[in-house]
Amino acid sequence: MTVLEKTPETVVLSNEEIRRYSRHLIMPEVALAGQKKLKRASVLLVGTGGLGSPLGLYLAAAGVGRIGLVDYDVVDETNLQRQVIHGTKDIGRSKLASAKERMLDVNPYVQVDTYETVLTSENALDILKGYDVIVDGTDNFPTRYLVNDACVLLGKPNVYGSIFRFEGQVSVFYAKEGPCYRCLFPQPPPPGLVPSCAEGGVLGILPGTIGTLQATEAIKLILGIGEPLIGRLLLYDALQMRFEEVKLRKNPKCPVCGEQPTVTALIDYEQFCGVPAHDRENGSKLASEWEITPQELKTRLDRGERIVIVDVREPHEWDIAHIEGARLMPLGSLAERVHELDSADEIVLHCKTGVRSARALEFLRGIGFRKLKNLKGGINAWAREVDPRLPTY
Ligand SMILES: [Zn+2]
Repeated sequence: MTVLEKTPETVVLSNEEIRRYSRHLIMPEVALAGQKKLKRASVLLVGTGGLGSPLGLYLAAAGVGRIGLVDYDVVDETNLQRQVIHGTKDIGRSKLASAKERMLDVNPYVQVDTYETVLTSENALDILKGYDVIVDGTDNFPTRYLVNDACVLLGKPNVYGSIFRFEGQVSVFYAKEGPCYRCLFPQPPPPGLVPSCAEGGVLGILPGTIGTLQATEAIKLILGIGEPLIGRLLLYDALQMRFEEVKLRKNPKCPVCGEQPTVTALIDYEQFCGVPAHDRENGSKLASEWEITPQELKTRLDRGERIVIVDVREPHEWDIAHIEGARLMPLGSLAERVHELDSADEIVLHCKTGVRSARALEFLRGIGFRKLKNLKGGINAWAREVDPRLPTY
C-alpha cells in the first residue's frame, strides 16, 4: 500500500543527494526509486514540540521533499528537557523559526513550509490538503479530533502519537484502509480527567521514542513498504520497557468514517472536548469572582488578614517550592482530609498553575464552602510576581 501516486520521471537526485542518501540507496526496499518517492512526498507536522522534534529532524534527514510545520508557540526553557529540535539559544524564539533553521541545517535539500497559527476548523482543511501524510504531534484532545476528522474528510493518513509520563501510543489512522481515531474513541474524555504533560509530567526521552516511531510509519507509508500500523494501536511502557499491540476495528457506526456519518464537516472541537486546544499550561475556567491574583493575595496577607492557603500539589512539588505558611493537602487526599478545613475561614487554594486548585475549588464549593479563592496562575505566577526567590517549574 502506498499513499503516493506514481513518481513522475521529472524527479531526479543530484550527485550530492545521491551521496547523502547512500545508506538508503543501497537497500533494495528503498533504492533510488524510494528515495525519489521521499523527495516528491510531503508531510505535515502538526506541532513542533516533543513529538515534532524527532519527527522534524528525522523526516528532514531522510529527505522528505516538503515538510510543513504548524505551530504558534515560542520556545520556553521548560521545553528543552524533551524538545531537542530547539536549543538554549532559541528560548523566546518562535518554534517554527527555530525548527526550520535546525531542519535545513540537517538537510538543505528539503523544503520546510511554516504555518504560524493554531490549527482550527476554519484553516485545517486548507493547510492539510496540500500534504500526502499528516502527522499529529500535538497532545491535546481538541486538536487530535480536529486532525482526525480533517484527515477522514480529505482521505489522508494520520500518523498518531500520544505521550504521558512513561507511556505512549502510536497508530496510523487511515479511514480508507482501516479505523480512525473516533472509531477508537467516539467521545473525548470528560474535561479534567486526563491531565496534560504540563500537569502530569513526561519523561524527556518518551516523545523521542514515540515521535521516532511516528516518523518510521510516515516513511513506510511514503515508500509503501512493510506493514503500516493501520488497525493496530501500539502501546509503549518505558518503565517496564515493553511494547504491546491492540487490534483496532473500524466502527461501522463511527460518526465520521462510518457507513452513515453524522460529522460531515469540521465542528467546534474545543466545545466538543470542553477544553482549550493547546498543550500549554492553561489557567482555570473559573469565573473571576472565584479567583485572586498573586498581587492581591500578597496585599491582603501584608494587611494581616487571616487567610488559609491550601496547596493542593504533591509533596515532591512542595519540595521544589512552596508559599510560606501554606498547608499541603494534595488534591487526591482532599476529600478525606476536608474535615481539617473550616468553611468559616477565607481559603485560598493553589497548585502549580491553577488547574488542579480550580478542581479543588469546585469540589469544596460542591460541599458547601463559599469563602474560596483560586490563586490565579498558581505558585509559578506567585514566584514571578511576588516572590522571585522561588523557582518556577
Ligand atoms: Zn472512524
